[in-house]
Amino acid sequence: MTRIAIIGGGISGLSAAFELEQQRRGGVELEYVLYESSSSLGGVLRTEHMDGCTVEAGPDSFVSEKPWAADLCRELGLGDQLIGSNDADRKTYILTHGRLIEMPDGLMFMVPTKILPTGFSPLFSWKTKLRMMRELYHPPRAADQDESVAVFVERHYGPEMVDRLADPLLSGVYGGEAANLSVRAVLPRFADMERTHGSLGRAMLAARKKMKAMRKSAPPLFTSLKSGMQYLAETVVTYLTPEWLLKNAPVEVIEPQEGGWAVSVRAESNHFDKVIVALPAPAAAQILRNVSPELAHELSAVQYSSSITVGLAFDREVRQSLPPGFGFLVPRSEGKQLLAATFVHNKFPHRAPEDRALLRCFFAGVNAETVWPLSDEQIVGIVRNDLQQILGLRAEPLFARVYKWKSAMAQYGVRHLERLGRIEHLRRQLPGLALAGNAYRGIGVPDCVRSGRDAAREASKSG
Ligand SMILES: Cc1cc2nc3c(=O)[nH]c(=O)nc-3n(C[C@H](O)[C@H](O)[C@H](O)COP(=O)(O)OP(=O)(O)OC[C@H]3O[C@@H](n4cnc5c(N)ncnc54)[C@H](O)[C@@H]3O)c2cc1C
Repeated sequence: MTRIAIIGGGISGLSAAFELEQQRRGGVELEYVLYESSSSLGGVLRTEHMDGCTVEAGPDSFVSEKPWAADLCRELGLGDQLIGSNDADRKTYILTHGRLIEMPDGLMFMVPTKILPTGFSPLFSWKTKLRMMRELYHPPRAADQDESVAVFVERHYGPEMVDRLADPLLSGVYGGEAANLSVRAVLPRFADMERTHGSLGRAMLAARKKMKAMRKSAPPLFTSLKSGMQYLAETVVTYLTPEWLLKNAPVEVIEPQEGGWAVSVRAESNHFDKVIVALPAPAAAQILRNVSPELAHELSAVQYSSSITVGLAFDREVRQSLPPGFGFLVPRSEGKQLLAATFVHNKFPHRAPEDRALLRCFFAGVNAETVWPLSDEQIVGIVRNDLQQILGLRAEPLFARVYKWKSAMAQYGVRHLERLGRIEHLRRQLPGLALAGNAYRGIGVPDCVRSGRDAAREASKSG
C-alpha cells in the first residue's frame, strides 16, 4: 500500500487527490492524506450567492483553450454545469485619456490582424499605427535570451502598445506588470512567432486562415460553472475519502525519512512513501527549508503579487445605462487605483438576474498593496469614485463585497524557465517528492488542475 501526503487543499492539491482517488477506485493500492492549513478546501476558489447574483471572490472562469479544468468537471459529472462566456457581446474597452475606447476588432492580444479597425481606432496614436505597419518587416530573431514582455512588445510596437494593451491585459491575468514578466514563460507563442516569422503581424496573418476555419466550431473564450467556481472544489471534495482530508492542519516541515517522508503538523509527525507539495512557492519553500536550502531558495525567488476583487450589484436602471461588452481595462498611466472591471451580467448572463447589474472590480500588484491597509468601506469608496469618473456611475450599490488575496498570484519573472529547470533538477535529487501549483507552468485554474494530476500520477508510480 503506497501512502501519499498531499500538502495544500487549493485546486492543485484537490486535483492531485482526485487523481489518486480515481486510481484507488480503479484498484491501485494507495492511500492519501490531504493537509490544508485553513478551515476550508478550495484555496482561492470562492463563490458567494447574494441577491440572486453569483459573486466570484477569486477566479471567475478559465480559458476554454486549456482543457484540463473542463475535463475534470466532466469526469465529476459536472458537464451540465459548464457555461461559456457570452462571446456575441464580447467587447473590451481601454480607458484612454479618461474615455473608454473599444479594443479594435482583429487585435489578437496586442497584434493587429485587421488593418482597417486598428487604423481607424482612437486607441493608438499615428506613431504607433506606423510602428504596426513597420512591424510587418521585423526580422526573425533567435529567442535564445529571455526578456520582459514590456521590452519584447516595445521592440515590436513601441511603448504606447505596452502601456495601452500589454500591461493592462497582463495585469488582469497575472496581477503583474509587463516590465517584470518573462516573455518566454508568459507569451511563449509570441516568442516562437518572432523566431520563425520575425513579424508577429505576419505570423498572425499566416495563421488567420487556419484560425478562421477553426473558429466556426470554436468553444467560447472562457468557461465557468453555473453555480460558481467554488462548486468545482466542493464537488471534488465530495468525491474524495472524507477521513483523509485534514483541515486546520498547517504543515510546518517535511523531511526525508527511511523509505519515505515525515510530514509534521504541530507536534505530530506522520510517515508517507511520497509527498505532493501543492502550495504557492513561498509556502513550499518554507516547509522544504530543512530538506534542501537550495530548492527552498529557488522556490522563494518566485515572486507573488496580491490582489483584491470587489463585487458590486446595482439595479436595472444602472444595467441599462452601462455600455455593452465584458468590461474595461485601465492602463497605469491613467492614474487610477482600479486596474479592471468586468460587467459580469454581460460576460456570464447566468450570474445575475435580468434586473441586476453585477460588476467585478480588480486591483493587483502595487495598486492592491496601496489600498490593502484600508477598510472594506474605504476600498468600496475608491471603487465607486473610479466608477463614477469612468462610467458616470453614481448610484448606490445594492451590495458590495471586498475579497483580499495576499500573495496568491505567481509572477513569472524574466528567466523563469531557467529557474524551473533548476527547481526540477533539485527536486529530482529528492526521490518521492512532487510539486504542483501555480508557481511553475501556468497560473490559471486549468494549469493548476493539470499540475496536480500530473504530480499525483508521478507519485503513484511505483519506485
Ligand atoms: C483574485 C484572483 C483571480 C483569479 N482569476 C483567475 C481566473 O479568472 N481564471 C483562472 O484560470 N485563474 C485565475 N486565478 C488564478 C488561479 O485561481 C490560481 O492560480 C489557482 O486557483 C491556485 O490554486 P492552488 O491550489 O495552486 O493554490 P491556492 O488556491 O493558493 O491553494 C493553496 C492552499 O494551500 C494552503 N496552504 C498554504 N500553506 C499551507 C501549509 N503549510 N500546510 C497546508 N496547507 C497550506 C492554503 O490555505 C490554500 O488553501 C486567479 C487568482 C486570484 C487570486
